[in-house]
Amino acid sequence: MLTKPDNAYTRTVGDGRRATNIIGGKPVPARSGATIDVASPSDGAVFASIPRSDGADVDAAVAAARAAFETGPWARMSALERGRLLFALHDKIGENAGELAALESRDAGKPARQGVADVNGAMRYFEFNAGAADKLNGDQIPFLDGYTALAMREPHGVVAGIIPWNYPLQILGRVAGAALAMGNTLVIKPAEDASLTTIRVAELALEAGFPEGVFNVVTGYGAEAGAPLSAHPDVDYVTFTGSPVTGTAIQAAAAINNRGVTMELGGKSPQILFADADLEAAMPVLVNAIIQNGGQTCSAGSRILVERSIHDTVAAQLAERFSALVAEPHWADGDLGPLVNAVQADRVAGFVDAAKAAGTPVLAEGQVSGDAPAGGHYVAPVLFGGVDPESDLARQEVFGPVLSMLAFDGEDEAIRLANATDFGLVAAVWTRDGGRQFRVARAIRSGQVFVNCYGAGGGVELPFGGFKKSGHGREKGLEALRDMSATKAIIFNHG
Ligand code: ADP
Repeated sequence: MLTKPDNAYTRTVGDGRRATNIIGGKPVPARSGATIDVASPSDGAVFASIPRSDGADVDAAVAAARAAFETGPWARMSALERGRLLFALHDKIGENAGELAALESRDAGKPARQGVADVNGAMRYFEFNAGAADKLNGDQIPFLDGYTALAMREPHGVVAGIIPWNYPLQILGRVAGAALAMGNTLVIKPAEDASLTTIRVAELALEAGFPEGVFNVVTGYGAEAGAPLSAHPDVDYVTFTGSPVTGTAIQAAAAINNRGVTMELGGKSPQILFADADLEAAMPVLVNAIIQNGGQTCSAGSRILVERSIHDTVAAQLAERFSALVAEPHWADGDLGPLVNAVQADRVAGFVDAAKAAGTPVLAEGQVSGDAPAGGHYVAPVLFGGVDPESDLARQEVFGPVLSMLAFDGEDEAIRLANATDFGLVAAVWTRDGGRQFRVARAIRSGQVFVNCYGAGGGVELPFGGFKKSGHGREKGLEALRDMSATKAIIFNHG
């Protein structure tokens, strides 16, 4: 557990509190000299700054990534050597795990143990992709007599990764691990609310031996740094995790150049409990799936669909757990921390207030700790029951510690409700009936379906991505390596 005041910061310039971009292997401030203050969500106190980059910085980073892709040692490196570099980066992160965990926790307001979990998650991504780098074969295609046809897997080139503030280290790991394993070079634009660990990992990549220009980082606001990056004519592929509205803007920008994109855009993930579910096993999982990271998780289990005959039992058990939850500063390592900023806290409070005003029953509310500093962005967890399936609360991504319960009658209605949002990222089915497990899992339009378990963001090996508004393309597992590469057919006429 951290004690306050913690002194986690990143180390790029001077006393380490003025972080820099990493471009072409060098720590550089924004060309304009502008910076953005970095405050911890736990107390609102400014403790560092990051560059407020614009199009000129993006141009420099893309040029560095292009040069590293076209020439230099990276362009000639074997898949085995790329894998070994990724292992070296994994080890460097391990050597600096304490510092990174404390920094992530302070920068994003995460309970201390979540910072540790995120470092471990990032390490797993680098480890998995390091091992996979030389294991994704292409194909030989049966073709005409006298010909041999190959399908090669080639890197896209320069990959732009625009990542969000909720799991900066983990999402950096999943994007960078797969992109680098396949031989791409990178320009990462972390979120303005949580950039420090991304800069630190790029520094560690240089220490690990990655050639200059392979792993570039440009920080700043979405409109000023993210927009020119996603529209850049010399970027070959764009991968984004974040809100659907921003995803649409980024796809439109990438479409100017007809570039490919991977979009991971959030969810409204249901957990379906049938009357025969093992409630004792389910209960802690249900709570954790919405409380982890303060509910700021794309794959948060934000809807509980309960068979009517067990509704009251489930409601009572969940209410007991919810009313014991306390939001605390990250250093207290409590049930949940603050939300990342005032805008998010206000947005979540808006959903809660609107649902209360509409008469939606509040089954339980947790608390904000009396020790929480006034400058932090705290929201008490809320459990709503009897939620109207047509309401915003049932259909929109709240991105906070707010859980909605809806009752259903029978399997068909469960499936209908599970699919009754625009999203389709993750779902869970809790039942002991084997046939029902398969039927319901197959019928849900969702990128992942867990049966008698749930993984909010877990599972580096498991393909992850959305149906419907949750996006397209797949990350994690070997699927990510396919997304981070393009197929090239080579046809030999040898007579
Ligand atoms: P939030 O609204 O919670 O900040 P976003 O999905 O908008 O979440 O942000 C995720 C990432 O997208 C951040 O790195 C942010 O800076 C970036 N971003 C925001 N707007 C744009 C944009 N128009 N173009 C490119 N990137 C953007």
